[in-house]
Amino acid sequence: MRPSVVHSREIQDRPVGYAGPNLDPTGLTLTPEQLGRGVYALVAAPPPKDNGGVIVGSRSALVVDAGVNEEIARLIQRIATDLSSVPVRYLANTTYHGDHTFGNAAFSDDVIILSSYQNRVSMTDLEGEKRIRSGNMYGNDAAFRNVTVWRKPDITFERFLCVDLGDQEVELWHFGPGNAPGDTIVYAPGAQVAWTGNFLGHAGVAPMLLEGSPEPYIRSLDAMKETLDVETIVPGHGPLGPARPAIDWMIAYNQWLLEAVRKRITAGDSEAEAIEQVAPPDMLSVPPGAPPQLARLNVNMHRLDVMATYRALAAERKP
Ligand SMILES: [Zn+2]
Repeated sequence: MRPSVVHSREIQDRPVGYAGPNLDPTGLTLTPEQLGRGVYALVAAPPPKDNGGVIVGSRSALVVDAGVNEEIARLIQRIATDLSSVPVRYLANTTYHGDHTFGNAAFSDDVIILSSYQNRVSMTDLEGEKRIRSGNMYGNDAAFRNVTVWRKPDITFERFLCVDLGDQEVELWHFGPGNAPGDTIVYAPGAQVAWTGNFLGHAGVAPMLLEGSPEPYIRSLDAMKETLDVETIVPGHGPLGPARPAIDWMIAYNQWLLEAVRKRITAGDSEAEAIEQVAPPDMLSVPPGAPPQLARLNVNMHRLDVMATYRALAAERKP
Protein backbone atom coordinates (compact mmCIF):
# COMPACT_ATOMS: atom_id res chain seq x y z
CA MET A 1 0.00 0.00 0.00
CA ARG A 2 1.36 3.42 -0.87
CA PRO A 3 1.58 5.87 2.04
CA SER A 4 -1.11 8.52 2.20
CA VAL A 5 0.22 12.02 1.68
CA VAL A 6 -0.96 15.48 2.60
CA HIS A 7 -0.81 18.23 -0.01
CA SER A 8 -1.01 21.20 2.30
CA ARG A 9 0.38 24.71 2.26
CA GLU A 10 1.85 26.63 5.11
CA ILE A 11 -0.35 29.45 6.42
CA GLN A 12 0.75 32.54 4.49
CA ASP A 13 -0.76 35.13 6.86
CA ARG A 14 0.73 36.18 10.14
CA PRO A 15 -0.95 37.97 13.08
CA VAL A 16 -0.72 41.78 13.13
CA GLY A 17 2.68 42.87 14.48
CA TYR A 18 4.12 39.36 14.21
CA ALA A 19 7.90 38.96 14.25
CA GLY A 20 9.11 35.41 13.52
CA PRO A 21 12.37 33.69 14.36
CA ASN A 22 15.55 35.34 13.06
CA LEU A 23 17.29 32.59 11.06
CA ASP A 24 19.69 34.86 9.14
CA PRO A 25 22.95 32.87 8.94
CA THR A 26 25.13 35.99 9.30
CA GLY A 27 27.37 35.47 12.33
CA LEU A 28 26.00 31.98 13.01
CA THR A 29 28.28 29.73 15.05
CA LEU A 30 27.75 25.98 15.53
CA THR A 31 29.39 24.47 18.59
CA PRO A 32 29.60 20.67 18.93
CA GLU A 33 28.30 19.33 22.24
CA GLN A 34 29.00 15.65 22.86
CA LEU A 35 25.95 13.82 24.21
CA GLY A 36 27.15 10.24 23.96
CA ARG A 37 29.68 8.04 22.18
CA GLY A 38 29.95 9.50 18.68
CA VAL A 39 26.86 11.65 19.21
CA TYR A 40 27.16 15.42 18.88
CA ALA A 41 24.63 18.24 18.86
CA LEU A 42 25.66 21.28 16.83
CA VAL A 43 24.38 24.09 18.98
CA ALA A 44 23.63 27.30 17.09
CA ALA A 45 24.35 30.76 18.44
CA PRO A 46 22.68 33.11 18.70
CA PRO A 47 19.43 31.17 19.18
CA PRO A 48 16.99 30.47 17.61
CA LYS A 49 19.12 29.91 14.48
CA ASP A 50 19.21 26.31 13.22
CA ASN A 51 20.83 23.64 15.38
CA GLY A 52 22.18 20.46 13.81
CA GLY A 53 23.97 17.26 14.62
CA VAL A 54 26.59 14.69 13.73
CA ILE A 55 26.38 10.98 14.61
CA VAL A 56 29.51 8.91 14.08
CA GLY A 57 29.84 5.14 13.72
CA SER A 58 32.82 2.90 12.94
CA ARG A 59 32.20 2.99 9.17
CA SER A 60 30.32 6.21 8.43
CA ALA A 61 28.78 9.37 9.84
CA LEU A 62 25.34 10.94 9.54
CA VAL A 63 24.62 14.68 9.61
CA VAL A 64 21.31 16.01 10.92
CA ASP A 65 19.94 18.92 8.83
CA ALA A 66 21.79 20.70 6.06
CA GLY A 67 21.71 24.38 6.99
CA VAL A 68 20.04 27.33 5.33
CA ASN A 69 22.39 27.65 2.34
CA GLU A 70 25.54 26.32 0.73
CA GLU A 71 27.87 28.28 3.00
CA ILE A 72 26.32 26.85 6.17
CA ALA A 73 26.21 23.37 4.64
CA ARG A 74 29.98 23.62 4.06
CA LEU A 75 30.52 24.80 7.64
CA ILE A 76 28.55 21.78 8.89
CA GLN A 77 30.61 19.42 6.73
CA ARG A 78 33.88 20.92 8.03
CA ILE A 79 32.71 20.37 11.60
CA ALA A 80 31.65 16.78 10.78
CA THR A 81 35.06 16.09 9.27
CA ASP A 82 36.76 17.45 12.40
CA LEU A 83 34.63 15.24 14.65
CA SER A 84 35.08 11.98 12.81
CA SER A 85 37.66 10.01 10.85
CA VAL A 86 34.98 8.19 8.80
CA PRO A 87 33.18 9.71 5.80
CA VAL A 88 29.79 11.41 6.02
CA ARG A 89 27.56 9.03 4.08
CA TYR A 90 24.11 10.17 5.22
CA LEU A 91 22.25 13.42 5.74
CA ALA A 92 18.87 13.40 7.52
CA ASN A 93 16.32 16.22 7.08
CA THR A 94 13.99 16.72 10.07
CA THR A 95 11.59 18.86 8.00
CA TYR A 96 11.30 20.11 4.44
CA HIS A 97 11.65 23.79 5.48
CA GLY A 98 14.39 25.62 3.62
CA ASP A 99 16.35 26.55 6.72
CA HIS A 100 16.93 22.78 7.18
CA THR A 101 17.16 21.70 3.51
CA PHE A 102 18.49 24.49 1.27
CA GLY A 103 21.99 23.22 2.16
CA ASN A 104 21.18 19.72 0.78
CA ALA A 105 22.56 20.57 -2.65
CA ALA A 106 25.98 21.40 -1.18
CA PHE A 107 26.47 17.80 -0.01
CA SER A 108 28.20 15.47 -2.46
CA ASP A 109 26.04 13.12 -4.53
CA ASP A 110 27.65 10.25 -2.59
CA VAL A 111 25.88 11.46 0.55
CA ILE A 112 22.46 9.83 0.78
CA ILE A 113 19.72 12.15 1.99
CA LEU A 114 17.07 10.57 4.22
CA SER A 115 13.70 11.88 5.37
CA SER A 116 10.03 10.98 5.59
CA TYR A 117 8.20 10.44 2.32
CA GLN A 118 5.84 13.24 3.31
CA ASN A 119 8.75 15.68 3.65
CA ARG A 120 9.86 14.80 0.12
CA VAL A 121 6.31 15.36 -1.16
CA SER A 122 6.34 18.82 0.46
CA MET A 123 9.50 19.85 -1.47
CA THR A 124 7.97 20.99 -4.75
CA ASP A 125 7.97 24.77 -4.93
CA LEU A 126 11.48 26.14 -4.36
CA GLU A 127 10.62 29.75 -5.24
CA GLY A 128 7.60 29.71 -2.94
CA GLU A 129 9.69 28.23 -0.14
CA LYS A 130 12.41 30.86 -0.61
CA ARG A 131 9.76 33.58 -0.52
CA ILE A 132 8.16 32.38 2.71
CA ARG A 133 11.48 31.68 4.45
CA SER A 134 12.97 35.04 3.39
CA GLY A 135 10.73 36.53 6.10
CA ASN A 136 13.13 34.88 8.57
CA MET A 137 16.26 36.38 6.99
CA TYR A 138 15.67 39.82 8.50
CA GLY A 139 16.80 41.80 5.48
CA ASN A 140 19.68 39.55 4.39
CA ASP A 141 18.47 39.27 0.80
CA ALA A 142 21.71 37.56 -0.21
CA ALA A 143 21.12 34.52 2.04
CA PHE A 144 19.29 32.56 -0.68
CA ARG A 145 21.10 33.99 -3.70
CA ASN A 146 22.90 30.73 -4.46
CA VAL A 147 19.94 28.49 -3.62
CA THR A 148 18.94 27.37 -7.12
CA VAL A 149 18.44 23.64 -6.61
CA TRP A 150 16.29 22.04 -3.90
CA ARG A 151 17.82 18.61 -3.57
CA LYS A 152 15.20 16.19 -2.27
CA PRO A 153 15.73 13.17 -0.03
CA ASP A 154 17.12 10.16 -1.96
CA ILE A 155 15.60 7.55 0.33
CA THR A 156 12.34 8.06 2.15
CA PHE A 157 10.24 6.11 4.63
CA GLU A 158 6.65 6.14 5.82
CA ARG A 159 7.09 5.65 9.57
CA PHE A 160 10.46 4.16 10.46
CA LEU A 161 13.93 3.72 9.03
CA CYS A 162 17.01 2.28 10.72
CA VAL A 163 20.51 3.19 9.54
CA ASP A 164 23.62 1.30 10.65
CA LEU A 165 26.72 3.49 10.77
CA GLY A 166 28.83 0.63 12.14
CA ASP A 167 28.49 -0.01 15.86
CA GLN A 168 26.05 2.92 15.93
CA GLU A 169 22.40 2.63 14.90
CA VAL A 170 20.32 5.66 14.06
CA GLU A 171 16.53 5.56 13.86
CA LEU A 172 14.39 7.93 11.83
CA TRP A 173 10.74 8.23 12.83
CA HIS A 174 7.68 9.97 11.49
CA PHE A 175 4.93 9.95 14.10
CA GLY A 176 2.43 12.08 12.17
CA PRO A 177 1.93 15.79 11.60
CA GLY A 178 3.08 18.49 14.00
CA ASN A 179 4.71 21.68 12.76
CA ALA A 180 4.46 20.31 9.20
CA PRO A 181 2.94 17.12 7.77
CA GLY A 182 6.26 15.26 7.47
CA ASP A 183 8.12 16.01 10.72
CA THR A 184 10.98 13.55 11.14
CA ILE A 185 12.68 12.61 14.41
CA VAL A 186 16.30 11.40 14.28
CA TYR A 187 17.01 9.17 17.26
CA ALA A 188 20.35 7.85 18.48
CA PRO A 189 19.23 5.04 20.83
CA GLY A 190 22.74 4.39 22.18
CA ALA A 191 22.82 7.88 23.68
CA GLN A 192 19.01 8.28 24.05
CA VAL A 193 19.23 11.55 22.12
CA ALA A 194 16.62 12.72 19.61
CA TRP A 195 16.82 15.54 17.07
CA THR A 196 13.27 16.82 16.94
CA GLY A 197 13.43 19.53 14.25
CA ASN A 198 10.45 21.85 14.42
CA PHE A 199 8.27 19.16 16.04
CA LEU A 200 9.40 19.65 19.63
CA GLY A 201 11.31 22.36 21.45
CA HIS A 202 12.39 22.82 25.06
CA ALA A 203 9.55 22.67 27.61
CA GLY A 204 7.92 26.11 27.73
CA VAL A 205 8.77 27.03 24.13
CA ALA A 206 5.72 27.43 21.87
CA PRO A 207 5.44 25.39 18.69
CA MET A 208 4.59 26.97 15.33
CA LEU A 209 1.36 25.49 14.01
CA LEU A 210 2.20 26.49 10.46
CA GLU A 211 0.56 23.55 8.74
CA GLY A 212 -1.00 21.74 11.62
CA SER A 213 -3.53 21.96 14.37
CA PRO A 214 -3.54 20.81 17.99
CA GLU A 215 -5.50 17.56 17.73
CA PRO A 216 -3.33 15.66 15.22
CA TYR A 217 -0.22 17.18 16.85
CA ILE A 218 -1.24 15.71 20.23
CA ARG A 219 -1.71 12.27 18.63
CA SER A 220 1.78 12.46 17.09
CA LEU A 221 3.32 13.53 20.42
CA ASP A 222 1.55 10.66 22.22
CA ALA A 223 2.98 8.23 19.65
CA MET A 224 6.51 9.57 20.19
CA LYS A 225 6.10 9.31 23.96
CA GLU A 226 4.95 5.68 23.73
CA THR A 227 7.63 4.64 21.24
CA LEU A 228 10.95 6.22 22.18
CA ASP A 229 12.89 6.19 25.41
CA VAL A 230 14.52 9.58 24.86
CA GLU A 231 16.54 11.38 27.53
CA THR A 232 17.64 14.51 25.70
CA ILE A 233 16.19 16.43 22.77
CA VAL A 234 18.07 18.60 20.32
CA PRO A 235 15.37 20.84 18.84
CA GLY A 236 15.75 22.40 15.42
CA HIS A 237 15.80 25.76 17.18
CA GLY A 238 16.49 26.94 20.73
CA PRO A 239 17.95 25.24 23.77
CA LEU A 240 18.47 21.50 24.28
CA GLY A 241 16.58 19.92 27.15
CA PRO A 242 15.21 16.82 28.86
CA ALA A 243 12.78 14.95 26.61
CA ARG A 244 9.93 13.85 28.85
CA PRO A 245 9.10 17.32 30.28
CA ALA A 246 9.24 18.73 26.73
CA ILE A 247 6.76 16.17 25.35
CA ASP A 248 4.41 16.50 28.32
CA TRP A 249 4.55 20.28 28.08
CA MET A 250 3.83 20.29 24.35
CA ILE A 251 0.81 18.03 24.80
CA ALA A 252 -0.48 20.22 27.67
CA TYR A 253 -0.01 23.46 25.70
CA ASN A 254 -1.84 22.08 22.66
CA GLN A 255 -4.71 20.91 24.87
CA TRP A 256 -4.87 24.29 26.59
CA LEU A 257 -4.80 26.10 23.25
CA LEU A 258 -7.60 23.98 21.85
CA GLU A 259 -9.87 24.71 24.81
CA ALA A 260 -9.02 28.42 25.01
CA VAL A 261 -9.66 29.04 21.30
CA ARG A 262 -12.80 26.89 21.28
CA LYS A 263 -14.21 29.11 24.07
CA ARG A 264 -13.56 32.28 22.06
CA ILE A 265 -15.23 30.82 18.97
CA THR A 266 -18.26 29.84 21.07
CA ALA A 267 -18.28 33.40 22.45
CA GLY A 268 -18.50 34.69 18.87
CA ASP A 269 -15.03 36.24 18.57
CA SER A 270 -13.55 36.96 15.16
CA GLU A 271 -10.08 35.58 14.45
CA ALA A 272 -8.45 38.94 15.24
CA GLU A 273 -10.41 39.19 18.49
CA ALA A 274 -9.44 35.66 19.52
CA ILE A 275 -5.74 36.46 18.92
CA GLU A 276 -6.07 39.40 21.32
CA GLN A 277 -8.22 37.53 23.86
CA VAL A 278 -6.22 34.33 24.21
CA ALA A 279 -3.27 35.77 26.12
CA PRO A 280 -0.09 33.72 26.56
CA PRO A 281 -0.61 31.38 29.52
CA ASP A 282 1.88 31.21 32.41
CA MET A 283 3.04 27.81 31.17
CA LEU A 284 4.61 29.60 28.21
CA SER A 285 8.07 30.47 29.51
CA VAL A 286 11.51 30.04 28.03
CA PRO A 287 14.13 28.26 30.19
CA PRO A 288 16.11 30.33 32.72
CA GLY A 289 19.07 32.07 31.12
CA ALA A 290 17.52 32.11 27.64
CA PRO A 291 18.14 35.37 25.78
CA PRO A 292 15.33 37.96 25.76
CA GLN A 293 14.68 37.53 22.03
CA LEU A 294 13.41 34.01 22.78
CA ALA A 295 10.83 35.27 25.27
CA ARG A 296 9.53 37.79 22.70
CA LEU A 297 9.50 35.12 20.02
CA ASN A 298 7.51 32.81 22.28
CA VAL A 299 4.70 35.37 22.51
CA ASN A 300 4.74 35.86 18.73
CA MET A 301 4.56 32.11 18.11
CA HIS A 302 1.72 31.81 20.61
CA ARG A 303 -0.27 34.43 18.67
CA LEU A 304 0.38 32.52 15.45
CA ASP A 305 -0.78 29.32 17.18
CA VAL A 306 -4.04 30.98 18.25
CA MET A 307 -4.61 32.04 14.65
CA ALA A 308 -3.87 28.56 13.29
CA THR A 309 -6.07 26.87 15.89
CA TYR A 310 -8.90 29.31 15.18
CA ARG A 311 -8.69 28.46 11.47
CA ALA A 312 -8.56 24.71 12.10
CA LEU A 313 -11.60 24.81 14.39
CA ALA A 314 -13.52 27.16 12.08
CA ALA A 315 -12.83 24.81 9.14
CA GLU A 316 -14.21 21.88 11.17
CA ARG A 317 -17.43 23.79 11.78
CA LYS A 318 -18.08 24.40 8.12
CA PRO A 319 -20.45 21.78 6.70
ZN1 LIG B 1 13.36 25.54 11.18
